[in-house]
Amino acid sequence: MFIDFRSDTVTKPTPLMLEAMMNAKVGDDVFGEDPSINELESIASNMFGMESALFCPSGTMTNQIAIKGHTQPGDEVICDETAHVYQYEGGGIAFNSGASVKLLPGDLGRITAEQILSAINPDDVHKPHSSLVCLENTSNRGGGSCYDFEAIKKIYTVCKELNLKLHLDGARLFNALVAKNETPLQYGELFDSISVCLSKSLGCPVGSLLLGKKEFIKKARRIRKVFGGGMRQAGFLAAAGIYALHNHVNRLTEDHCHAKQIAEAISKKEFVQKVLPVETNIIIFELNNSISAPALVAKLKGQDILGYAISPNRVRLVLHLDIKKEMVEKTITIIKSL
Ligand SMILES: *Cc1c(COP(=O)(O)O)cnc(C)c1O
Repeated sequence: MFIDFRSDTVTKPTPLMLEAMMNAKVGDDVFGEDPSINELESIASNMFGMESALFCPSGTMTNQIAIKGHTQPGDEVICDETAHVYQYEGGGIAFNSGASVKLLPGDLGRITAEQILSAINPDDVHKPHSSLVCLENTSNRGGGSCYDFEAIKKIYTVCKELNLKLHLDGARLFNALVAKNETPLQYGELFDSISVCLSKSLGCPVGSLLLGKKEFIKKARRIRKVFGGGMRQAGFLAAAGIYALHNHVNRLTEDHCHAKQIAEAISKKEFVQKVLPVETNIIIFELNNSISAPALVAKLKGQDILGYAISPNRVRLVLHLDIKKEMVEKTITIIKSL
């Protein structure tokens, strides 16, 4: 059997999560009548101290709805050059919102208030209107790196002063909260909208949440319908989300601990150039010229370990709910033997 480190999206619902799903009370959510979705949205918005929440099929959809809701065609969105919203959402910012993007070279996916300040266009008819900043925490391409909360506060201040909206792509925000010992409430205070994935490290089969002010989520609900994301008896999925928020958050420290142990073994291999700092559940390492990333991934596959070549010389491994202690031990033994 493979040990699958390709992504934290590969998890299957646990028996208890499935039981919660089977017992869900459901209704038509487009009519606002699904009790499980209403409950999930209310649990999440209370958790973050935000007014309202919207359950969506994917994190791409919650991000794209937020961008659409915060911008006008022709506006400019500011984000890191590796940001998921730009690199991995199929050109959605242009397609859905008709907005342009200013990419900033961040530090492992993290951009600073100073960078943002100098990227905001002056009020000049020649320039696109800078209207939105998107942050990503944790940063996927940054190897699961986390922002310092103080750095986010500075960004918040710049956005407030210059009247830009601030969106968080928090696909793995719970990993950051657990790693940095922060609370959802702190984040709820600073962002105009937050997207969190339930289908990543929280182990749900489907689903993401968009959080924001009441008026904004009302608008988001309309955009979700336009995007084709209005679901009916999706309370079966929301029940998994409720279960995950109650049971799968604290355990993330286990994944983080496993990631550090595996990274330690990887860093000792002579074919490894460097390992990006491991702060959460993602390990990204760079190879020297002795082997390419696809070749190493193939070699690992021969030993029943699945990883992902994210570039010709970089490999990514992601820890998650379905990777248990014994599997981590086995993986470390195999890495040592390579
Ligand atoms: C996975 C991910 C998303 C959303 O992806 P979906 O597969 O559409 O749910 C958004 N941002 C980041 C950083 C991600 O890793």
